[in-house]
Amino acid sequence: MKCPMCSRDMKEGVVQSSRTIFFTPKAHKFFMSPDDASGDEITLSQHNWTRPTCKAYHCQKCKKVIIDYDEEV
Ligand SMILES: [Zn+2]
Repeated sequence: MKCPMCSRDMKEGVVQSSRTIFFTPKAHKFFMSPDDASGDEITLSQHNWTRPTCKAYHCQKCKKVIIDYDEEV
């Protein structure tokens, strides 16, 4: 994947956590799981019961990480 900022090749890898990784427009203070019913929060990781993992691409120059939450890991 090419970096959308600088057009250089990005390094392919994963983002992992001990808990489900999700996007939310507003940070949670207490409940660290996505509100799937809200429609605004998106679960990004797969294998959430064993090893929450997202496919991701990193640009070291721009310090950007892109998560592809449609791609199998
Ligand atoms: Zn870049």
